[in-house]
Formats: sequence, C-alpha cells, structure tokens
Amino acid sequence: MSVGYNLLMRDGFGRTIDYLRVSVTDKCNLRCIYCMPPEGVEWMPHSEVLTLEETQKICAAAASVGVSKIKVTGGEPLVRRGLSTFIRSVKGTRGIESVTLTTNAVLLGDFLDELVDAGIDAVNISLDTLNADVFRYITGSDGFERVLRSMGMARAAGLAVKVNCVPIRGVNEADIVPLAELARHEQMAMRFIELMPLGLGANLVPIPHAETFERLERALGVLRPFDGRLGNGPASYYSVEGFAGKIGFISAVSHSFCGGCNRLRLTGTGLLKPCLASDAGVDLKAIVRGGGDILAIAGALRAAIMLKPMRHDFYRNDGGKRHKKKNMFRIGG
Ligand code: SAM
Ligand code: SF4
Repeated sequence: MSVGYNLLMRDGFGRTIDYLRVSVTDKCNLRCIYCMPPEGVEWMPHSEVLTLEETQKICAAAASVGVSKIKVTGGEPLVRRGLSTFIRSVKGTRGIESVTLTTNAVLLGDFLDELVDAGIDAVNISLDTLNADVFRYITGSDGFERVLRSMGMARAAGLAVKVNCVPIRGVNEADIVPLAELARHEQMAMRFIELMPLGLGANLVPIPHAETFERLERALGVLRPFDGRLGNGPASYYSVEGFAGKIGFISAVSHSFCGGCNRLRLTGTGLLKPCLASDAGVDLKAIVRGGGDILAIAGALRAAIMLKPMRHDFYRNDGGKRHKKKNMFRIGG
C-alpha cells in the first residue's frame, strides 16, 4: 500500500475528507451551561488519554490519506501541557497545510507568542456574550476580560480570528447584535452556531438560525451571501454594508450541514469518530498502542471514513435522547 500526500479521500457519499478535528483533552477551565456541569465531570484517566506524540502520529497518518487541515480542540486545548510543541510538530508534518485552534481564549494571551512561533494559522474563539455578568452565568467564570484581551492580542499578532457564539433562548439573546458589531471594524468572522441537542445542550432552548438572521438584518441591514471561501468548515458567510468582517452561520440543526461535511473527529482517548452525532467510532489508540505503524493507522482511517453516515440524526428515532449522553467536551465540538 502506498502512502500518498496529494490524494483526495472521498467517503461513501462522494464527500472529500480533508479535515481532522483533534481533541487533546476533555478537561476545561470553564463550565459552559450547554457543555459541562458546574461540578465538573470525572476526567478520563491519564493512561486512557493519548499522549501528544501518539496524537501526532495519528495526524501524520491522517495526512497520508488526504487530511491537510487540523483543528486542535478539547475540552480546552490550552490546559494541555506541551500544546505549542505539539502544534509545531503537526504543522511540520508532511501534507499538513494548516493547523488551527478552537479555544475559550481565557489562557490564549498567555500562550500566544509561543503558538505563533509554533506556526498556528488561525484561532476560533468561543464567546457567547459581551456582558461580564452573562459571561459569568454562562461559563461559571470571571475570565471575561482575559478573553477580550486575548482576542485583541491575537488580532494584533496578525492571526485570522473567528468568534463563535451559541445563541440560547433567555440567556444571550441581547448579545446577538452587539457580537455581530465586532465585525464592523475588524476583518474577522463573527459566527452564530445553532445549539445542538448534545449533552447539556439538550436541556436548553436554541435560537433558530432564521431568527438570529432576522434579528441581525433588522439591526444591521441586509445580509448578502458571500461567495468567497473562509476556512474549512460548514459555515455560510454574509457581508453587511459597511462591515469590514463577515457574519457566519453554522446551522447544525435547522439546515443540516452534512452535505458538505469534510471532517473526522479524534477524541482525546483515541476514538476516531466519523460523525459528531453518530455512535460509530474506530479505536485508534488500540492500534497505536498495539505497535501499529502509520500504514496501519491509515488503513483504520480509511475504514472510518467509509463509516461516515449521509447526515446526522439529532432528532430522529428516539427524539434525541441518545444524544444527551454525548459530551461536546469529549468529542471536541
Ligand atoms: N473549549 C474550546 C471552546 O470552547 O472553544 C473548545 C472545545 S468546545 C467543545 C468547541 C465548541 O463547541 C465551542 O465553540 C462551543 O461553543 C461548542 N459547543 C459546545 N457544546 C455545544 C452544543 N451543545 N451546541 C453547539 N455548540 C456547542
Ligand atoms: Fe469548556 Fe469549551 Fe465546553 Fe465551554 S464549550 S465548557 S469552554 S469545552
């Protein structure tokens, strides 16, 4: 079997798979109401979590089957020691074109210099409000000012920044327009992600994409579809008259984003998940720890790609009960 770096890997539905989201920890310094309970959770035993060297090996195998973009996520990736060294080695892996980070940004300012030095290409910052009290309510933390400072530092360092907000009924409705205003003077993408009925998210009420869109048009004027490409994901982007940046929507639930899905997910314990919503997974840790080489991991990756379902099934069969058991801090968002 040959190892190729420019090949296109397609799944059973003809979708090109070139993007791997890598969760490096299930731990987090925040407790977002839709993600992690206030008392925390029982962390995965240390021995169960992949070392960063093992994770790097899996990234190299992924590159050999056509993955060129890696997103580092968690839990909160910046609580994992050695993250910048890991990012440097993934960035230097043959076939990998971009390495980006999804973070709550509380610690981003502390690590920014070393991340930039390691070659990070962009950061996605999760920020659901511009109100310090609402931030405390949503995250259980006083880190709001640190997040704002980190965001400014990331932009000043010249990194591409996307900000992600999950609109939730009765929680941060008043923040939708002020958050969008961040993109007025800054060349950044402000994205609204529909709350998914996974884990604690299943107990909250999402604000549908259509409503967020309408609120924004009422306040800001017409949102015009933007055809250019921004990033690797399932977001659709819009331009607003007078705005330097773009507004994006990730409508996981009301418009299935599965048709263009290009991704795989690796959990911190080495389970490769072909779909966020599916129970299917391939245990790459067993292969890596059993002495499997890059070719063996690549073979398992190919098999996992073929397990990708056509679309997610958030609300089918059991009304979503099955998904309440899933945890975004383990799957990596
Ligand atoms: N801790 C990092 C952060 O918050 O950016 C990375 C991991 S977090 C699980 C990744 C993303 O998942 C965040 O943008 C978060 O808002 C989103 N997320 C978590 N639970 C969600 C849910 N139930 N529905 C929609 N998005 C969710
Ligand atoms: Fe932590 Fe991110 Fe989950 Fe919030 S969304 S609790 S920051 S992992």
